[in-house]
Amino acid sequence: MISLRNIQKSFGKQNVLNGINLNVNKGDVVAILGPSGSGKTTLLRCINFLERPTVGEVTIGDLTVNCKRANKQDIMKLRKKTGMVFQHYNLFKHKTVLENIMEGLVIVQKLSKDEAKVKSLEVLEKVGLADKVDAYPSQLSGGQQQRVGIARALALNPEVILFDEPTSALDPELVGEVLEVIRNIAREGITMVIVTHEMGFAREVSNHVIFMDEGVIVEEGNPTEIFTNPREHRTKQFLKRIT
Ligand code: ATP
Repeated sequence: MISLRNIQKSFGKQNVLNGINLNVNKGDVVAILGPSGSGKTTLLRCINFLERPTVGEVTIGDLTVNCKRANKQDIMKLRKKTGMVFQHYNLFKHKTVLENIMEGLVIVQKLSKDEAKVKSLEVLEKVGLADKVDAYPSQLSGGQQQRVGIARALALNPEVILFDEPTSALDPELVGEVLEVIRNIAREGITMVIVTHEMGFAREVSNHVIFMDEGVIVEEGNPTEIFTNPREHRTKQFLKRIT
């Protein structure tokens, strides 16, 4: 369903991704792990061309976009197939919770305001924030703001949701509620790719784990293979350091 072929990305002289190949099937929950600076976020952002790869090709569903030939329309189409949940939520500060979610539905998907409202309320219910529709982001905790971020991504019915370290900006006591929401979405069979430092969560919620270091995939497999029986020295070292 998603296929990345030979994705390379440089920033100036620094090569951050050095030829990534990855296949994600429909309904997969893929966790991307690896040390700081290994290129996890950059890879995630290459999937929807928030970072344009220097080399390589991305396929999502029936659309293939090659970095050399992609025009604005191709990139727009690719973005419409993905939802993104950011580390720092990226909500509109001057819009209410409801307006934050309706925005994409009205502007991008061209729904009427009434339709957008119905859909928005439905996803807010799902993330447990139906009582916060009229609140502004500043009136919410970090965990609640991130749940709005997740609801916003869900509302657009994307083919895949990309999560970029969704809990790393949160106080520890707020992490659990966000992970719980992601866990519930995973159970619905939505395809997800999650960059995370939460090892226990990755192990529990994903069916496929990628371990990256220095811009390459060092090892991938199911959670048992990676967490219990890692083959590669670098994976073993990483897990030993952080668990
Ligand atoms: P972390 O776990 O710390 O978030 P990461 O594995 O997600 O790290 P990336 O954020 O992808 O790593 O960064 C990989 C490298 O690319 C880093 O050295 C970073 O400084 C560099 N980098 C990322 N984005 C840019 C950018 N826009 N311009 C220049 N360098 C960048």
